[in-house]
Amino acid sequence: MLKANDKLEVSIVSQDTQPTSALATHNQRHDVKARYYQRKSRSYGLIERMLRSYLRPYLWLLGISIFANIIVAATTGALPWFIQQAIDKVFTERDEDMLVLIPAGVIIVSIIKGLATYGSNIIMSYVGQRSTANLQRDLFARLVRGDLAYVGSQHTGEYISIFMNDATRLRDTVSTIIVALARHLLTIFALIGFMFTINWHLAMIYTVIVVPMGVVSMRRLGRVTRKASRQGLEETGGLSTLIAETLGGLRIVKAYGQEDDQIERASSVVDRVLQFTMTALRARAAASPAIEALAGVAVGAVIFFGGYQSMQGNLSAGEFMGFITALLAVYQPLRSVANMQTVLQEGVSAGERVFSILDQEDHILDKPDAQTLTVTQGALKFDAVTFKYASRVTPALYDVSIEVPAGQTVALVGASGSGKSTLLNLVLRFFDTDEGKIEIDGQDVRDVSLLSLRAASALVTQDPFLFDDTIANNIAYGQETFDMAKIEAAARQAAAHDFIMEMPDGYETSVGEGGARLSGGQKQRVAIARAMLKNAPILLLDEATSALDTASEQQVQQALSELMKGRTSLVIAHRLSTIMHADNIYVMRDGQVCESGTHKQLLAQDGVYAELHKKQFADGDA
Ligand code: ADP
Ligand code: MG
Repeated sequence: MLKANDKLEVSIVSQDTQPTSALATHNQRHDVKARYYQRKSRSYGLIERMLRSYLRPYLWLLGISIFANIIVAATTGALPWFIQQAIDKVFTERDEDMLVLIPAGVIIVSIIKGLATYGSNIIMSYVGQRSTANLQRDLFARLVRGDLAYVGSQHTGEYISIFMNDATRLRDTVSTIIVALARHLLTIFALIGFMFTINWHLAMIYTVIVVPMGVVSMRRLGRVTRKASRQGLEETGGLSTLIAETLGGLRIVKAYGQEDDQIERASSVVDRVLQFTMTALRARAAASPAIEALAGVAVGAVIFFGGYQSMQGNLSAGEFMGFITALLAVYQPLRSVANMQTVLQEGVSAGERVFSILDQEDHILDKPDAQTLTVTQGALKFDAVTFKYASRVTPALYDVSIEVPAGQTVALVGASGSGKSTLLNLVLRFFDTDEGKIEIDGQDVRDVSLLSLRAASALVTQDPFLFDDTIANNIAYGQETFDMAKIEAAARQAAAHDFIMEMPDGYETSVGEGGARLSGGQKQRVAIARAMLKNAPILLLDEATSALDTASEQQVQQALSELMKGRTSLVIAHRLSTIMHADNIYVMRDGQVCESGTHKQLLAQDGVYAELHKKQFADGDA
């Protein structure tokens, strides 16, 4: 009964799984029953979790709100009583004192009710907004702290959609539910309680007819709503992904003349969102008329039985009117409570998505006794490293041993897909090795704190990432203090100073989203300046120049040589000419080291490296 993809349910209802799984049986009937409990516990589990983790700090506010709602319920319940008194005392007995007292009472009670409603609404809105804000903060933290393996497998747009849509929907659900439970249920109790004090026969008839029928029909509608709502949210996520993708690849879309096709894709997603939203809305819209129809049945029944009782002399006109007033007043809260079921279902689907992200477990963590990495020399060593990406069948690295002695430059070459970048990722613990270990100055990277590990090395990739900020801030990224002199010195060493000075605002020029206002070579030099400023003892270069043209490559290469001075460098190079002078070269093939040695030795070996070298010279690429 608990399918593999129901993992989430289990985590939400962890306390409740016992009874659910106890019901697990292959018997069809039991299965239905079990599903029912599961669904129920899932909703309650969600609310309980929201209360526990996000509403707890505001419990006192919720308390005040509930108190205000008790006042709302009591004042609502008082109204039919006033009507009853008015008919009996004023209209029938013609009591002149009551002529003044009753209207005055009605006005006072209505004002109190208005104030209490206002107060509780304000409090609930505040609590709702505040807790969503906290939820969004946590989601963002999950995004930033999450394992790359997990975050990398998420769709950008979907994440944004969960962040924006699901989190807000969850808030609306939780505040609606709390108000519905506190205000409307109490009001219903107050009104029905009043009905019982007037005439319990009539009240019994009312509760026996209306309440059960309402509950059954609402439950059915709720089921439809939740499914449609979840599908709608998923499609909305798909739409966000499409938008993000289109923005990112707009040039490609245009270059290949795929505008219409892209619009077509978007409109089919939009249509599906509409379809699911309408299903949910239809179910929700059906809830109120259903309750109204039921109320009509109830009014008819009460007129009939009430009229009969009145003919017997058991019911005064005032009591009858009071009863009918209470019955009509119970409409609105009953409708809200009926809606609560559907709103709750929508919230459950939003909550499942939100918590599925919050519940994601991280594996790349500091050990409890993690030491700070102490870099004395900066020697880097891969010892029989085997690693497989979770989504792959074959390992990306198999039994790789590489030594990068302190202060030396070691190069990795090999066809694309041979595992070079993966090796660099493992040094920074973006992933952990499956077997073997990586050591820096004899310390296993898994034994030291992530912060100290990542502070010890600078990574420059083929596609440098710049934030939408000024050049100076991009260079100073990750620095505790902003020192313009140091920034400029780093930029000079990275051969970036000259072009920066030619920009309209110099170092204060904003680079645009992703550095869009700079050329590839300029971005790369800013990234190198960033690495310069970081001044880490270990340098990891992943095809840092391969995206550049020859002219800018030369400038960047110069900057890199400057950066590599006196540091332990592990360099992945696309063009062999750039690593000819490396102290040692490892040739990778299919995740394994197949050759190693200096440029000369490898050429003399006349193996894979020599082959690569010949090819590049023939192509004029070296
Ligand atoms: P290189 O840098 O030598 O081109 P990579 O280290 O990037 O090679 O990739 C090695 C292998 O691992 C390739 O088969 C590649 O498809 C796979 N791979 C790389 N990154 C991931 C990832 N995030 N998830 C799954 N497989 C990956
Ligand atoms: Mg690579």
